[in-house]
Amino acid sequence: MKRCPQCNQTYPDDDLNFCLDDGGQLVFVSNSSFEETVIRPSPFFQQPSPPVKQGVSPMFAYLAIGLLALVAGGAVVMWMKSDSSASSKNETPTTVSTPAEQKVSVSNEPQGNLKQEQEALEKERQKLADERQRLETKKNETFSTTTTRTSQPSSGTWFVVLGSYQKYESEKANQRLRYVQSLGYDATVVDTNNYPGFKGGLYSVVVGPYSKSDAKGLLGRMKSSISDAYIKSGW
Ligand SMILES: [Zn+2]
Repeated sequence: MKRCPQCNQTYPDDDLNFCLDDGGQLVFVSNSSFEETVIRPSPFFQQPSPPVKQGVSPMFAYLAIGLLALVAGGAVVMWMKSDSSASSKNETPTTVSTPAEQKVSVSNEPQGNLKQEQEALEKERQKLADERQRLETKKNETFSTTTTRTSQPSSGTWFVVLGSYQKYESEKANQRLRYVQSLGYDATVVDTNNYPGFKGGLYSVVVGPYSKSDAKGLLGRMKSSISDAYIKSGW
């Protein structure tokens, strides 16, 4: 190691004899003095540079660390948020929705049953209303009679006559018919014009035809309710 005594420049090349700046003759220097001379100028010449270098590189390091910290922190916050939201989504709904679902299903079943029952009741009510309407219509309806001559049955020709009415008294005939039916007898109103055995031009409330003996038996039972009942053969 050599040093220029004029400008104190040092040269690590021992083969060099003259200073490259001023041409001064270089002298050998010991390691200690070299270190002294090297270290001494280094505080002067290199100290400004290391602080710059140190100021720049740590700055970048700090910036990088800061950025990393920010990113990492953000990521941690994001992760925590997503984790907490995920946990709040996974845990809270499961713990809340399970009883809620049970509550719903528990309260839904009776509600469904109630609804079904209500619907069934409503249907039943509607059915009854329809039936009542039908009966009401039937009640107001006058009897129907055949317009053609009724052929003689082989089983019997005898009727129990429970009332005969002029054709303009069809409402009276209808009332009598319903009364007899209400006693449980399968009565009908006949147009007497269709039966050669009857006097024509009337509506008669009758049950039958039966054999004469059956008609007599039935008349005996019906007399208590309809005192003016009698038997007559239609043919
Ligand atoms: Zn020199």
